[in-house]
Amino acid sequence: MQSDDLILVTGAGGFIGGALVADLRAAGHRNIRAVDCKPLSEWHQEFPDVENLRLDLRYLEPCRIAAKGARSVYNLAADMGGMGFIETHKAECMLSVLISTHMLMAAREHGCERFFYSSSACVYAAEKQTDADVVALKESDAYPANAEDGYGWEKLFSERMARHFREDYGLVTRVARYHNVYGPHGTYEGGREKAPAAICRKVIQAKRTGSNKIEIWGDGEQTRSFMYIDDCVQGTQAIMASDIIEPINLGSDELVTINRLVDIVEQIAGVKLQRSYDLGAPKGVRGRNSDNAMIQDRLGWAPSIRLADGLERTYAWIYDRMVAARPSESRAAAA
Ligand code: NAD
Repeated sequence: MQSDDLILVTGAGGFIGGALVADLRAAGHRNIRAVDCKPLSEWHQEFPDVENLRLDLRYLEPCRIAAKGARSVYNLAADMGGMGFIETHKAECMLSVLISTHMLMAAREHGCERFFYSSSACVYAAEKQTDADVVALKESDAYPANAEDGYGWEKLFSERMARHFREDYGLVTRVARYHNVYGPHGTYEGGREKAPAAICRKVIQAKRTGSNKIEIWGDGEQTRSFMYIDDCVQGTQAIMASDIIEPINLGSDELVTINRLVDIVEQIAGVKLQRSYDLGAPKGVRGRNSDNAMIQDRLGWAPSIRLADGLERTYAWIYDRMVAARPSESRAAAA
């Protein structure tokens, strides 16, 4: 890949897309097209030296405009969010199939050389995730299929479509199954945020208001792993450049309960909060972890940024955003 070949990043106004564009720039790529359907003012990160386009990629024509001249395509655009969103917006999540389909068609038409699709751990069969004391999910656990209703089925279908475009049309496709990504520039409020950002926000709020209380979704004993954004961006590019044709896990294998996640954020904030548990809130599967044997074997690498380190940076970023409304208050002063 030459540094002046055109790279298209879709969903570039979002969390991971924005971080990927930032990293590609930092690596010296000068010809980047960033596409999202949101107004530029709402993009998580925006760079003036990048071709920024506002296009609705559910439709074929805008996908053609996006793909024209691109040598590689990172297709990260999707209508998605945390558990609170995907459990209550299943039709919207499944409509992302229009983006996946039309982007593959447009990439093929324009002779793009490589196509990356961001799939998800939500493709994994529900019955393999019923215990908090998990066996980490390996790639073959997606079948026999019983994906997360709505969002997970769209991801699984689009994975397969990417495979058939590769097999039938020769488009080089690569697919990563992301496991919970978090970090600075991620959504932390509004209903689409995921657990690490939501907990940072709740701890900051409890501290600032003096309520000293936090509400946790479920009983807090559900388990997950969380991948820091830098690992995600590095792994995404490594998978794109690789010869790995099967969908592959891209996630941390540092398993924690949600209660442990709260412990870590409390430690960072220097508080101990009174916990209450909303057992009726969306919880997702009981336990989920990433089996990283395949990525270790194929890339000699796996995500390794410790949760405590990533959370510290995430907490600091969210804190700065939340206190921006009260600029006289510094992080040190409130700590
Ligand atoms: P995000 O919501 O921050 O970014 C997705 C972007 O896609 C948004 O900016 C949105 O405006 C854009 N988009 C939605 N519909 C569009 C359309 N019709 N046309 C153009 N753009 C559109 O999400 P993210 O966390 O950055 O996720 C990126 C990709 O990774 C998504 O495909 C997501 O499903 C996948 N993924 C993310 C995670 C995670 O933990 N963040 C986990 C698994 C998979």
